[in-house]
Amino acid sequence: MKLAKRTEKTSHSGLDEIFAASKPGMISFAGGYPDSKLFPRVEIEQAFSHTFQSAPATLLQYNSSKGYLPLREKLATRMRNDGINTTTESVMLTQGAQQGIDLAARLLLNRGDGMVVEAPTYLGALAAFDVYEPNYYEVHMEADGMNIDELQKVLMKHEVKMIYTVPDFQNPTGTVMSLEKRKALVQLANIYDVVILEDGPYRNLRYTGEPLPPIKHFDTEGRVIFLGSFSKILAPSLRLGWLTASPELFDGLVALKGGSDVETSNLMMSSVDGYLAENDLDAHIKEVKATYQHRKDLMVSALKKHLPSEVHFNNPEGGFFLWLTMPQGFDSTRFLQESLIPNSNVSFVPSANLVPSKQLKNAARLNFTNVNDQDIETGVEMLGQQLKLALQS
Ligand code: PMP
Repeated sequence: MKLAKRTEKTSHSGLDEIFAASKPGMISFAGGYPDSKLFPRVEIEQAFSHTFQSAPATLLQYNSSKGYLPLREKLATRMRNDGINTTTESVMLTQGAQQGIDLAARLLLNRGDGMVVEAPTYLGALAAFDVYEPNYYEVHMEADGMNIDELQKVLMKHEVKMIYTVPDFQNPTGTVMSLEKRKALVQLANIYDVVILEDGPYRNLRYTGEPLPPIKHFDTEGRVIFLGSFSKILAPSLRLGWLTASPELFDGLVALKGGSDVETSNLMMSSVDGYLAENDLDAHIKEVKATYQHRKDLMVSALKKHLPSEVHFNNPEGGFFLWLTMPQGFDSTRFLQESLIPNSNVSFVPSANLVPSKQLKNAARLNFTNVNDQDIETGVEMLGQQLKLALQS
C-alpha cells in the first residue's frame, strides 16, 4: 500500500530489534517507567467515584479543547508558584506531555525546517518530530545542559524555527541546565527568532539541591512553550499533561488540539481535579521522591563499586535516569547486543538511538525508578563484569 511520505522518516526507534533477544526475568535499566507500586491507587479511585457522585450530568459531555476550567486554574496557580508568569486563559490540558510535543511541532515545523535538539534527547520526542520531517541540528549536552557556544554557532549559520529542551533532569542524561544557560538560551532565541519548547515532566522530582526557575520564567517575548505532565508525579495512564504559551502560539495550539482529538477526556480532567481538591499532591510527590532518591543513591554506590574506572557516570539531582559514558570508540549498541544481553541478564538504552544522526555511540541511559534494591545491586554488578571484559578485549 502507498503510505504517506512522512512515514518514511518516522523513527523507528530501532529498540525493538535490539531487545528482541531479551530473556524473561531480565533486569531492565532500559525502561522509563515510574514504579506502579507508588501510584496513589485508592485516592485516585476515590476521586473518580466522588466525581461521579457529585458531578453534574455534563461530566460525560463534551467540554472544550482547552480543557476543564477548574483544573486549568489549579495548574495556572501551580505554575505561577513555580516562577512561570501565566494565567488560566493560557493553560491547555493535553493527553500527556507527549501530545504537547506533537502539537508544538505541528504548529511550527514545515518539512525541511531547522530544529535544534539536545544530543542526546528524548526518544519519544524524536518519534513525534520525525513526522514533520525537520532538518535536525544536534547540540551536545554538557554537565550543565546543552553547549551554548555550539548552539550559537548553529543559529548563526542556519535558519532554526524551534529548540527542544528538557532542562530539568533531562531524559536521557539526568542533567539540569544551569541558570546562566537558561538565560542565554532565551537571549539567543530572542535574537534569532526561535521558539523554545521546554519539556518539564521531571521538574517536580528534585531529590537534592536547589530548584532553578523554568526557562519560561525568563521568557520576555512569549517564545517559550512550557509542557508539564502528571505521568511521573501521579500516574501515566491518566494521559494528562498541560501546556502554557503566549497567545500568539497558544491559539494555534488550541486549534490544532481541536482538530487532533477534539479535547482531553472530560471525565479524566474532572476526576484528577477532584483528586487535587481532596489530596495533597505535593505530599504524595515527597513520598515518591524518597523512594526514587534511595534507588538512585543505591545505583550510584553500586556503580562506584563495580564499574571499571574508564567508565564515567553522573549522579543526577533528580528525575529517572543517569548516564554512563564509556571511552571513545566504544559501541554501546554492539556491547548490549553481543555481550550484555547474551551473557548476563541486564539491559540499558544505548546512546545511538537517542540522537537523530545515530552518531553518539559510547554512552548509555540507565533507569533507576522502576527497579528494586536487590536488582539494582545484582544488575550493576553484572553490568560491571561485562564492561570490564569488553574493555579488556
Ligand atoms: N517528555 C519527556 C522528556 C519524557 O521523558 C516523557 C515520558 N517518558 C514524555 C515527555 C511523555 O510523557 P507523557 O506521559 O506526559 O506523555
